Amino acid sequence: MSVIPDITLNNGQQIPMLGFGVFLIEPEDTVAAVSAALEAGYRHIDTAEMYGNEKEVGEAIARSGLDRSEVFVTSKLSNDAHRPDDARRAFDESLKALGFDYLDLFLIHWPLPTRYDGDYVSTWSTLEEFYRDGRTRSIGVSNFQPRHLRRLHGECEIIPAVYQIEVNPYLTREEVRGFCAEHQIAVEAWSPLGRGQVLNDPTIGSIARRAAKTPAQVVLRWHLQRGDIVFPKSVTPDRIKENIDIFDFGLSADEVEAISALNRNERTGPDPDTFDAI
Ligand code: NAD
Repeated sequence: MSVIPDITLNNGQQIPMLGFGVFLIEPEDTVAAVSAALEAGYRHIDTAEMYGNEKEVGEAIARSGLDRSEVFVTSKLSNDAHRPDDARRAFDESLKALGFDYLDLFLIHWPLPTRYDGDYVSTWSTLEEFYRDGRTRSIGVSNFQPRHLRRLHGECEIIPAVYQIEVNPYLTREEVRGFCAEHQIAVEAWSPLGRGQVLNDPTIGSIARRAAKTPAQVVLRWHLQRGDIVFPKSVTPDRIKENIDIFDFGLSADEVEAISALNRNERTGPDPDTFDAI
C-alpha cells in the first residue's frame, strides 16, 4: 500500500498530499467509489455541499471500519449560504449529512464577488467561528483570485490554511504561488488531470514512456513535486488504484520544468470573477 506524504499546514495540522475527489460522482455511485479509494489506501476525501454526496461519503467512511481520525475530510460552503446565519446553518447541515462532529477542512467554495455586495469577508469571519470552536480543524478558500486572498489577509484574523484552485499543466498558476509560499498557504490543485484533457499531450506522453508510468501518474507526480495537494476523481477501480500508485518514481527537475512549460493559462472551469451560480 502507498505511503502518502503529509504536509503541515500553517496552523500545524497535517494533510495527506494525495486525496480522492468526488465532484460529479452520483450519490448512488459514491459509496462504492469512496470505498474503493479507502481500500486502495486514500485517506483524504474532498467533497462539498454542492456535490450532493456528503451523506454517501460519510456512509463509506463509517462502513470502512477506519477511525474517523484516520481520514482527512474536506467540505465546502454552498454558494447559496454566504450570509453568516445561512453559513452557520449550512455548516451544521454538512456535519449532519456526513455524520461527523468535526471536519478536517472547510472551504468557501467560490468568492462570488458579484453577489452578497462582494462581501466574502463576513463569510470568512463566520468560518473563523467554526475554526475557533473546534468544529473544523482548518479553514480555507477555493477559487479566490489573488486580490480576494490579499483582502482577507488584510481584513481578517486567521490566514487561510489552504487555497484550492484549478491547476493543471495547461494552467500552472505561477502568479499566486509566491503569495501562498510567503504566507505558508498550501495550494490544492483541483481538476489536477484537467478533467482528462491534458492526458494526450505529447510531452507528457514521452515522459510517461521514459518513466514506465501512465500520463495520469506523471501529471499527478508533477503536482506533488511542485508541492501541491491533489485529489483526482475516478469511479473506475483500476484508475483509482493507478492514481495512488505514484510514490515509486520521480520526475527530474528538467521534466517538471518541461511540463510546467506547457502552460497556456487555459481554464476548464468557470472564471471566479464572474461565476455567480447559486
Ligand atoms: P480530474 O482532473 O480529477 O479528472 C477526472 C477525470 O479524469 C475522470 O472523470 C476521468 O474521466 C479522468 N481520469 C481519472 N483518472 C484517470 C486515469 N488514471 N487515466 C485516465 N483518465 C483518468 O477532475 P475533477 O473531478 O473535476 O477534479 C478532481 C476533484 O477536484 C473533484 O472531484 C473535486 O473534489 C475537486 N474540484 C473542486 C472544484 C472547486 O471549485 N473547488 C472544482 C472542480 C473539482
